[in-house]
Amino acid sequence: MFGTMQDVPLLVSRILTHGSTIHATSRITTWAGEGPPRRRTFAESGARAAQLAHALHDDLGITEGGVVGTLMWNNAEHVEVYFAVPAMGAVLHTLNLRLPPDQLGWVIDHGADRVILVDGSLVPLLARLLPALPRLEHLVVVGPGDTTALTATGTRAAVHHYEELLAGRPTAYHWPELDERTAAALCYTSGTTAEPKGVAYSHRSIYLHCMQIGSAESMALTPADTTLPVVPMFHVNAWGIPHASFMSGVSMLLPDRFLQPGPLAEMIATERPSHAAAVPTIWQGLLAELAERPRDISSLTRVTIGGSACPPALMRAFEERHGVEVRHAWGMTETSPLGTLCTVPPGLTPEDEWPYRITQGRFSAGVEPRLVGPDGAILPWDGESAGELEVRGPWIAGAYHAGVGAEPERPEDRFSPDGWLRTGDIGVISPDGYLTLTDRAKDVIKSGGEWISSVALENHLMAHPGVAEAAVVAVPDDTWGERPLAAVVPAQGSEPVGYPELRAFLGERVPRWQLPERWTTVAAVPKTSVGKFDKKVLRAGYAKGELD
Ligand code: ADP
Repeated sequence: MFGTMQDVPLLVSRILTHGSTIHATSRITTWAGEGPPRRRTFAESGARAAQLAHALHDDLGITEGGVVGTLMWNNAEHVEVYFAVPAMGAVLHTLNLRLPPDQLGWVIDHGADRVILVDGSLVPLLARLLPALPRLEHLVVVGPGDTTALTATGTRAAVHHYEELLAGRPTAYHWPELDERTAAALCYTSGTTAEPKGVAYSHRSIYLHCMQIGSAESMALTPADTTLPVVPMFHVNAWGIPHASFMSGVSMLLPDRFLQPGPLAEMIATERPSHAAAVPTIWQGLLAELAERPRDISSLTRVTIGGSACPPALMRAFEERHGVEVRHAWGMTETSPLGTLCTVPPGLTPEDEWPYRITQGRFSAGVEPRLVGPDGAILPWDGESAGELEVRGPWIAGAYHAGVGAEPERPEDRFSPDGWLRTGDIGVISPDGYLTLTDRAKDVIKSGGEWISSVALENHLMAHPGVAEAAVVAVPDDTWGERPLAAVVPAQGSEPVGYPELRAFLGERVPRWQLPERWTTVAAVPKTSVGKFDKKVLRAGYAKGELD
């Protein structure tokens, strides 16, 4: 017997219509540096999204399935494109502007983008790529920007201005009733451990993923909140926050290109968001900025931190110095991205909450986990058995996009024979369902048949007051196969700390055999395009003898 309920497809256009009518007065504020912020309501954004859809369809020839790229910061116009493109049945391809240029060009070509919308400030970046992109048909410059840099490349693509394209168009669009499994957005992994791979989110996966963001077990955002997604809209849909905001009427403060600690502190103090989301390195920078130049960030009550392991010392510092509750989250491009988020069990004292809070948290109802040992056995959730995390669910990738018209790819190292996603993350799960990641499979240090968690060593080192950042990588060792190398960034303004002291500090916290023999001091830990520690670069630097 089937259920008797209506079979209404879960579409991005429904989220847009809901947000721009039911939550018509919620706001998008875009930070503009020295100038006044730009402010728009959800109703205005919905009208402009409709105008954009008319322009893309009528003038630029975009129909269902056409791929439209964005090379844009987090701003109100990007939100308009976020909704207009999928809602009209086309595919939004967010481009990670921090990828190395050759990879970025490859991603645009592989995605078969026909149109690219580019922020004025990013025109020079796009101009450098254009000679290798003969398939592009239209370029749309958003905001002020010198378009001659584009035409001077000899590109065949027509160049337009965003506001001119929108002007005078109807402010309503008859959004098509699509199959909810249709691709809505395309995002490539940031290539931290391998070449970028394309994930095509469906309308259904976006809809379900953003419903969970609103739940009390997740970010729990409501119309009373203003959220500051520092996480870029050009990578993994800014963790789903723009969609979730329209679903729940949450006002957004968007930082545009002002992502340095100073402007971030300034916009928090001025615009007073209640929630923010970013990777740990951003928070590390903000903390240092606030220590040097205090600002009032008291509006901020909750922040979501993820993308790489959040050092417990960072969580404590935010809570103790600024009264901000940090919620740790885990996810990846392939998981839309939210897989877990950490809320603690009820009834604990603040101190008893900490062992939970430093975990990656519990899985959402839509994300089913299992841990798989090296021999392929499914491991118990006993808080001790470490294995590779595999997941499945309605917003988890089942394959990679292999180009328009090609069959999706399911490489064996990323998908199990029974269709689960192999995350490449190693961890344990407690009997009550809390995930603790100890490493990425490619970063774990295999010393004499035992595994050393690079993340654990880093977290301990970063708790030392003389250390601003620390990254630990595996380096080859004749006796043990691999041993840890610790690369340390000294804290500004504190006395330099000697390696023996750091080793002794670690020695009180981890077994002796895990202590690094090799140490190096670096000015900054190299970062990937999305602000994670780039251990590939450190390993390569060591191999070339640059880190002694
Ligand atoms: P890339 O794979 O290119 O780095 P992603 O943004 O998809 O791009 O990264 C996903 C990976 O980031 C995860 O597989 C995991 O290794 C890491 N990660 C994300 N969140 C956390 C977290 N809270 N703790 C530890 N690692 C995390």
